[in-house]
Amino acid sequence: MKNKIKEIARRIEPELIKIRQELHRYPELGIELPKTHEIISRELHKIPGLEIYEHMAGGSGLVGILRGKCKKGKTILLRADIDALPVEELYDCSYKSEYPGRMHACGHDGHAAWLIGAAKILAELKEEWNGCIKFVFQPGEEIGLGAQTLIEEEHILENPNVDMAFAAHGWPSVISGQIGIARQYAFGCVGSFRVKITGKKGHASWPEETIDPISAANEIYQHMPSVLTRKISGTEPKVFSVTYMIAGNPKVRNVIPQSCEFGGTIRATNSKVLKQIGEELRKETEAVCHVAGAEYELEINTNGKSVENDSVLLEGVVKTSSEILGKENVYIIEKDHLGGENFAEYSSRVPSVYLFIGIKPKEEEIPGLHSPEYRFDDNVLAGAAATFALLGYNGCMGILKGED
Ligand SMILES: [Zn+2]
Ligand SMILES: [Zn+2]
Repeated sequence: MKNKIKEIARRIEPELIKIRQELHRYPELGIELPKTHEIISRELHKIPGLEIYEHMAGGSGLVGILRGKCKKGKTILLRADIDALPVEELYDCSYKSEYPGRMHACGHDGHAAWLIGAAKILAELKEEWNGCIKFVFQPGEEIGLGAQTLIEEEHILENPNVDMAFAAHGWPSVISGQIGIARQYAFGCVGSFRVKITGKKGHASWPEETIDPISAANEIYQHMPSVLTRKISGTEPKVFSVTYMIAGNPKVRNVIPQSCEFGGTIRATNSKVLKQIGEELRKETEAVCHVAGAEYELEINTNGKSVENDSVLLEGVVKTSSEILGKENVYIIEKDHLGGENFAEYSSRVPSVYLFIGIKPKEEEIPGLHSPEYRFDDNVLAGAAATFALLGYNGCMGILKGED
């Protein structure tokens, strides 16, 4: 099977590159992606036997469903995100973004192209597998939307029920032709917070007659990292980052202002730790404001979920990817990182594995995700499409869990 898949992937490679570069020209943001929808829809309609559902996720989502020779088989979901970013493209190429101020700087154009490739491959081999494969093209990943609507309102995990799900990201630190797979957490859970401290404004010469909100905010800011190292195990990845702080007026140098607001991101791999960070921030804010005599407003969101790889599927996914790329090119990543991914909505509901597909040509340093100079290596599209196709095939046939 792997040879047939590789052969088709090689044959359709030029088409996939064309699709990726066309999508790259028209980067769109959020949930409504009309041009992106048009291109993906056009390509899906070329695939024989594919059932197509359009305008999903409350906008421009698409789902294609392929059914194998017989129903007796598993149902696999393969997902690509398809939205872009509000970034002005600085990388010069013949297919540069035609929309000012927008760019596929996270490479989701590549994700869409390799998933179209996987659908083309599996459609050609439809007589050779059983079960059902759902190809999900999800908008809104960058704004944390899309997945929940598809799952909760459009029930894409049901009818037939999805047994396992896979997704991948083109990854600038992994060499092209290789795949890295996280041992446990592919992405962390993301939370956010906003604290507004209200003191008592007054003349800066007599601070004792004011309640200084900047000083209280600063105390929380300074103290939180050490609170977290004392209250949460040192082996737990965690982040508390303040990303804005607003107080006073730069033109007024002699008044202590009435209020100070700051906010940012909190992250962890384990959702219990995320909740605990939120709780420690609440306690710290309460204590500091109590001592200062200030009032506070606090918003904390700790509902984020992490993308956790299924430990049972992991080995089968490593084996499957190795069949396409070679054993020496697939490795386990032991170190967690705390980026976020909307795929958490899938992986928290069905056993899933997330792959980091290399897009870094050997000996070359390339800019990171979301950089205006970000670039995607088109040479990896065929391998990625073939990997997804074999994951779909092995998953459907029950080979991933060693049931065959
Ligand atoms: Zn991104
Ligand atoms: Zn991304």
